[in-house]
Amino acid sequence: MDPFDSNSTERASLPRNMIENSMFEEEPDVVDLAKDSTAFPTFPALDPDEVVFEPRSSRLLVRGLGENDMDEDEEDCESSARLLGMSFMNRSSAHRSNSSPYTRQAPPRSCSRPSARTMVVCVLFLVIVASMTMVLYFLPGCTFTRKGCAKPNKTTPLETVYPLSTNGELFPWAQFRLPLSIHPLSYDLTLNPDLDHMTFTGRTVINMSVHHNTKRIVLHSANLNITKATFKRGDGEASDVTVLEYKPRQQIAVKFSEELKAGQYCVLTLEYSASLSHTYDGFYNSSYTDKEGNKRVLAATQFEPLSARKAFPCFDEPAFKATFLIKIKRKPDYMTLSNMPKAKSTPLPSGLVEDEFEKTSVNMSTYLVAFTVANFTPIRKNVSNTLVSVYSVPEKKEHTDYALETASKLLKFYNEFFEIDYPLKKLDLVAIPDFLAGAMENWGLITFRETSLLVGNQSSPLEKQVVASVIAHELAHQWFGNLVTMSWWNDLWLNEGFATYMQYMSLQAVLPQLDIGNLFLEVRFRALDKDALNSSHAVSTEVNTPEQVEEMFDSVSYEKGASILLMLNASLPGDQQFRKGIIQYLKQFSGFNTDTNDLWNSLTQVEVSTQHQNVSEMMSSWTSQKGFPLVTVSRKGDQVTLTQEHFLLTSDNATETSSLWHVPVTYVNDSCSLAPECRQVFALKNKTGTFKLPESVKWLKLNYRNTGFYIVHYENEGWASLIKALSSNVSVLTPEDRASLIHNIFALSRLGRVSFRQVLKLLNYMSNETETPPVTEALLQLNTIYRLLDKRQEHVLVARMKNYILDHFGSLMDKQTWEEEKSVSKQELRSALLEMACRLSEEKCTQQAKNLFKQYVDSNGTFRIPGDLQRVVFAVAAQSDQDWLTLLNMYKHATYDSEKRKMLQGLASTQDTRHIVWILKAGLNGGIIQTQELPLVISTVCNGFAGYLFAWDFIQENWDQLIEKFPVGSFAIQTIIKSATSQFSTQTRLDQVQGFFSRLKERGSQMRSVQEALETIRLNRRWMDKNLSTLQKWL
Ligand SMILES: [Zn+2]
Repeated sequence: MDPFDSNSTERASLPRNMIENSMFEEEPDVVDLAKDSTAFPTFPALDPDEVVFEPRSSRLLVRGLGENDMDEDEEDCESSARLLGMSFMNRSSAHRSNSSPYTRQAPPRSCSRPSARTMVVCVLFLVIVASMTMVLYFLPGCTFTRKGCAKPNKTTPLETVYPLSTNGELFPWAQFRLPLSIHPLSYDLTLNPDLDHMTFTGRTVINMSVHHNTKRIVLHSANLNITKATFKRGDGEASDVTVLEYKPRQQIAVKFSEELKAGQYCVLTLEYSASLSHTYDGFYNSSYTDKEGNKRVLAATQFEPLSARKAFPCFDEPAFKATFLIKIKRKPDYMTLSNMPKAKSTPLPSGLVEDEFEKTSVNMSTYLVAFTVANFTPIRKNVSNTLVSVYSVPEKKEHTDYALETASKLLKFYNEFFEIDYPLKKLDLVAIPDFLAGAMENWGLITFRETSLLVGNQSSPLEKQVVASVIAHELAHQWFGNLVTMSWWNDLWLNEGFATYMQYMSLQAVLPQLDIGNLFLEVRFRALDKDALNSSHAVSTEVNTPEQVEEMFDSVSYEKGASILLMLNASLPGDQQFRKGIIQYLKQFSGFNTDTNDLWNSLTQVEVSTQHQNVSEMMSSWTSQKGFPLVTVSRKGDQVTLTQEHFLLTSDNATETSSLWHVPVTYVNDSCSLAPECRQVFALKNKTGTFKLPESVKWLKLNYRNTGFYIVHYENEGWASLIKALSSNVSVLTPEDRASLIHNIFALSRLGRVSFRQVLKLLNYMSNETETPPVTEALLQLNTIYRLLDKRQEHVLVARMKNYILDHFGSLMDKQTWEEEKSVSKQELRSALLEMACRLSEEKCTQQAKNLFKQYVDSNGTFRIPGDLQRVVFAVAAQSDQDWLTLLNMYKHATYDSEKRKMLQGLASTQDTRHIVWILKAGLNGGIIQTQELPLVISTVCNGFAGYLFAWDFIQENWDQLIEKFPVGSFAIQTIIKSATSQFSTQTRLDQVQGFFSRLKERGSQMRSVQEALETIRLNRRWMDKNLSTLQKWL
């Protein structure tokens, strides 16, 4: 999935009361199963899944505390004893963190060779367990009530809680993850959507195999009204069964009195009805207005991560792969699409038509299933045995050419690069009118937001870059994610980090004119900024709740993931080794699920060089701990000393971590600094490392072209000599290296390692800078400070900051043209410069923008503003009341998506409070402004002074509505929180934000983005306290 272009992403909306951490806290509808011996009369069961239902309460709690679903032979007494001890100490979630219950990897410990002490503990433990079991099991007359046994067994130290199904019966499963005893093999789905009434009915036939003896089947289902259920064992007769449902976990179950035996096959058939979803996930309805002004309705799906269960009952976890045969009924004037090509269409007596798709030729995770019912128009092309089609609503057909051409080139590239052909016969790319994420990689049927897929022929290269990037990302997923899938969401980065890295790498090779390198560099800077916070998390991190699944779709999984892959590739000897490694990985695990170690092992195995590098050892230091290193370099004579420490921005400077990384440090010096051959490598594995360098070397620059994921501080005269070198000739370093110096020095100032005066000293060289990466990075950093000052109403400093920026960048701003520009890099440069100039109300800029807007309005649609300048022109226009209304009118009628989006950003940049209030409400209500655009509206509104005050109030007042539309933890919610709070820098604001979120409780207080927001405000406040006086003195 690509959530970033859209500022938001698609998430499941799950009940907010199912925070797994509170599993053992008071819940209204749970009862104590520990003493129930009637519900499951055949205890003790041998099925590993069943173990949790044994009345051996100590063991129940052990499982509940975290040991999800271990097989009997995996379980070891040592861990049980350890966990039992834990359970006596505390039943709160705080103690769950050490054992990852939901990563189904081999347990890290084993009882195979226990120590004598362990043996004693084990034996003691078993004796206790056995006695408790017997006491409980033979306890007479214990009836199961909410109050427990009439004569409660006071010696039982532990209790566990099991939920009640909707019908009042006990639900036979108490965990977030499904049991492993039953595996689905194939699904046969029939769907009958009724677009007139926004409902659908469905029939799902699931063929399953039994892996362990069990007496129940548990799977997912959400908001589906199950009307009939039958079950068939092996060759037996099908018979009706009762389906139990536990809504808070979106699970359903069937219980059996007679065990299903390992090795057996069985079939569960479920019939159900449901409403089409009104949010952006599950099987949802969407609409658009056609040329004639008629409202056209359609239905589409978005299942990642947890919403396939909203369209059909299924084992909705990525490791439960199966095949799918899908049939959809439709009216004759609609068309349907699904993952596979259509096999046949059958007219039905009802007047409907049933489309049947070929059975998937591959095993697939449920989150990749997709179908649409709509009136789309395609254009298509054959590319190495795959029929590639791009679909849009008929009105936008002429905007699909670029996507088809780009997808075709990229498909060819990936087929060759991975040495594995795309496995399906067709590949559809579909633009959906209502779509929250940027795009979704459903196998064979990639769905896109219209802005991520459609561009006109006359579009600027920068607009094409957006479309090409999203296509490159989603196509890479057809291998990384679809063919080889992460076992669980904790390793989401295996999907997203890889697709993000491949998107930049493939575009560099296939469409070099798009200058994608600048964007990737910026992405790496932003990933560092976020990962510097204490609220960040390890790339591969524990995921135990639906909200935590949502939160994995963040900058760490995508951007840091991509950054560390670049670092690895750049540090391997020879340019083919990385590629060979990933080919081996894809071939070895094709059709299966993996975890992070599988990838590193594949990459280690192909190591062919003499300097044997242990990729696993190196890379696990980057994926298993949060943050990244600060590498400090100091020189004494001919000796260079490197020291690493955790680059951690904390507001109190108190948190010391002992984290160490295996850093492939690269460096260049004044004798050779530009060409790749100049680059030298030093492996820094310990806290410090030294190497020799002739004393005659004047300066040293680490992290050549910023391919490494670390920040560098130059001690002694290090910074001074670099600044001196740049002042005499900017070209002594590559533009990426210059940009990385700028990024790093601002970060170090935030950390308190360099003074802001030193930052300004480096920026003095900027008057000679003309390249995009250093200029855009400097502007972004200065703008962040400018906005903080503005929001603090430091009028004098704001004015001085403005002068400072115009002094340093004014001549470059003046040099920018306002005509069409071919080079993407130059477009990026000029849009950054002009947006800054106009934001600072620089006269020449605003005048030009106004002229262009007038020309545009007067031409009645025949004159086009260059794509990269639209945002600045519309933002200037929106400052006048009359032009704002003109722009709004144009927005309502615009059909050209990327232009329309920039109009919206223009409208949201207004400083008129009435307009601000209107646009926020309009975004929330949907209609004129689609709700999918609300995160973008809020983030744009917050740039201005007036808007940012309103936005925070708006969010507080409408929180419940917001989390109805965008799930807690989702990328959309992350964006909204960040936009609204990241410019606060006072204690009062900190208290307000803290107070608001803590009152939310399960409606969002536990989100990582809340921690991030609080941390950011504290850091802003600290920075202000420390630097206001410096700014007064030096600006
Ligand atoms: Zn993705």
